[in-house]
Amino acid sequence: AAKRNGRGTYQFANATMNEAALERLRIEAALRTAIESDTLRLEYQPLIHLPSGRIVGTEALCRWDHPERGSIPPGLFIPIAEDCGLIEALGGLVLRKAALQLRAWHDAGHPELMMSVNLSARQFQRGVVLKQVEDALAISGISPDRLELELTESVLLHDGEAVMAVLRRLKALGVKLSIDDFGTGYSSFAYLRRIKFDKIKIDQSFVRDLIDDPDNAAIVRGVISLALSLGLAVLAEGVETEEVAQRLRHLQCTYAQGYHFDRPLRPEVFAQRLQSLRPSGFTG
Ligand code: C2E
Ligand code: MG
Ligand code: MG
Ligand code: MG
Repeated sequence: AAKRNGRGTYQFANATMNEAALERLRIEAALRTAIESDTLRLEYQPLIHLPSGRIVGTEALCRWDHPERGSIPPGLFIPIAEDCGLIEALGGLVLRKAALQLRAWHDAGHPELMMSVNLSARQFQRGVVLKQVEDALAISGISPDRLELELTESVLLHDGEAVMAVLRRLKALGVKLSIDDFGTGYSSFAYLRRIKFDKIKIDQSFVRDLIDDPDNAAIVRGVISLALSLGLAVLAEGVETEEVAQRLRHLQCTYAQGYHFDRPLRPEVFAQRLQSLRPSGFTG
């Protein structure tokens, strides 16, 4: 009986593994189709200047509406795109869409607005990202200094010199570079000296418990003062309450992003939000 159970269990595990592998292949195929048919879309989350409360920029966040399964979060499909070689195509289309959208908002009377786009480490491996950024700037005609590229610390670990070379060329184009999810990776500060970043985004895990957790509060305070003394802008991610926003203002944090201000918004909703900020009587 034990043997039979054993074999049954083995077969069951095997069937489960096959099912998982098949499931993964189905997701990959559907993602490839979504990229080829250009059905991925972007949402835009406002980036807020804390002292004034004004929107100064927006982060483009990729969205995938699967025809049968509904919305699949980027936390799930970005790693899949990275593993199966789709991230370059995905990254290229995100850059183009975001740049064209920014151009439209500039033309609609918001010429100062910044656009932030996430790049993953894999997009640096063959250096294709440089050409993609140049193309996005060329087709949109936006000024390079209105575009900000968000990298995580993992990008900087991958292949020291090759990645540094690409980053320097991106800087030479005039685009801005920011470090996303700061504090969650290997926080070697060496790269802060090697490349002139423009902004540090403090990871939401530190920001969320700012009020109740003295250790997180100390980390946030420390990162803000590090950024300011290096001459970098600093943004707190994941601000969900007015209490946290208030504390961040008190700590001299310049920028914030989070559900307290806005969720990621569809472009037409973001446009309304921008419009509502115009001083009344503005006619230009
Ligand atoms: P991220 O770049 O750190 O983006 C911020 C994430 O935090 C977004 O999740 C956003 O919706 C969420 N968020 C913003 N405010 C709050 C808040 O107050 N509370 C909470 N709990 N969450 C908040 P999302 O859209 O699910 O994206 C997750 C991650 O997927 C992003 O993290 C980024 O690493 C990646 N990602 C998204 N779009 C792209 C893309 O186009 N390319 C690449 N390479 N990665 C992307
Ligand atoms: Mg980001
Ligand atoms: Mg982040
Ligand atoms: Mg993140």
